[in-house]
Amino acid sequence: MNKLDSNLVANSFAQAGFDLVDSPIDADVVLVNTCSVRGHAEERVMSLLGHLKHIKKTRKELVVAVFGCMAQRCKDALLKHEVVNIVCGPLQIPELVNLVNNALDHTKKQKSVSENIRHKPLPQDLVGLDDFEQNNDSAENSLPAQAFVRVMHGCDNFCSYCVVPYVRGPEVSRPPEKIIEQIKKLADTGAKQITLLGQTVNSYSYNGASFADLLYDVSKIDGIEWIKFVTCYPKNFDERIFQAMVDLPKVCRYLHIPAQSGSDRILKAMNRHYTADEYLAILDRARQIVPDIAIAGDFIVGFCGETDEDFQKSAELIRKAQYKNSFIFKYSTRPGTRADEKLIDDVPMEIKKQRNIELLAVQEKVSEEWNKSFIGKTVKVLVEGVSKKSHLDGVDNEKLPQLIGRTAGDCIVVFDGAADLAGGFADVKITRASALTLFGQAAD
Ligand code: SF4
Repeated sequence: MNKLDSNLVANSFAQAGFDLVDSPIDADVVLVNTCSVRGHAEERVMSLLGHLKHIKKTRKELVVAVFGCMAQRCKDALLKHEVVNIVCGPLQIPELVNLVNNALDHTKKQKSVSENIRHKPLPQDLVGLDDFEQNNDSAENSLPAQAFVRVMHGCDNFCSYCVVPYVRGPEVSRPPEKIIEQIKKLADTGAKQITLLGQTVNSYSYNGASFADLLYDVSKIDGIEWIKFVTCYPKNFDERIFQAMVDLPKVCRYLHIPAQSGSDRILKAMNRHYTADEYLAILDRARQIVPDIAIAGDFIVGFCGETDEDFQKSAELIRKAQYKNSFIFKYSTRPGTRADEKLIDDVPMEIKKQRNIELLAVQEKVSEEWNKSFIGKTVKVLVEGVSKKSHLDGVDNEKLPQLIGRTAGDCIVVFDGAADLAGGFADVKITRASALTLFGQAAD
């Protein structure tokens, strides 16, 4: 979601005549996109602002604009920061170019945020944001031939640890015709893979059209070959989404569905509205309908009141769920959330770190088994570009760089190939697998 926002903003500034420079030292304007989901992300923003302070000492005219979730959450406190000229919430990003142009003319600080973020916007209130998205989305980004399209804004779930409903507002689905029009435009400019984005895409609903309906419609668009979506919420899951994966070859058989904990007691404290068994039942149903589906999960360790016994239930859930991979995070309190106000962050950091390492090790074993099943098989990948890290298998093929790509099931694949394959599809025969990566050779 943040990558999409950064791309939209960068494109809107390019259209307004601004050029991108490599370093803040050379810039007249620095735009800082922010995330509030974890404390660490906000700490990094504060440290970046500290760094900009040094640049601004000698260049007082430098304009610094902070936008996104942290801008919405911290509003005036952020505006008071000595280097910040502009604070702009995630729903106000279409205004950024004007705000910056004003700041270049005057020195006055400016703020544009939602004053009542939980106030449900009317469809007409979102026209500006929809148009902004239409006009500035692009397949030209760091991942060639890939584009992201937001299908909905906000969230109404109020998981007790999560700040999203307070910074991105209520859940509002975008009109399907706008989404389709946007994707057609992206396909015309070279997008082959579209990732549909929402905090809970499976609850997409617009005038009776569901997310499954949207998948059938997007699938009709010429030029788009793979459709992925993130992320799903494990409640009231519409099984027609799984049926769409079977019916529509373009819909990738990949499901990212965060569990967050394997303990029913903790799930209740997290306000997640399902039990571990109900969650596993969704995964079973997914595999009954789509046997080769790849499933990824999310977990938080060290949530308020999590005992060793609760934690072991998360490890057990990972083993039972047989995820291809999981994203595992240490709990950090987010100001303004229910957990922050009503629960005690009582698991010491040392224990959080230990549990994080332990759960990653459990997942690594499961991932290794999953990845090993690909050895000897040929997989289709969308090539992202030259791999930043060099991997051992490249030594006997010095003429070709190592490329990195992803399968429809989101497995990372490293293989030797010509750099101009980036943005195209390639068939790769898998010869070796680790927990995180598949290695192979381009198939003849
Ligand atoms: S579903 Fe829960 S965790 Fe996800 S964005 Fe909404 S409130 Fe946050």
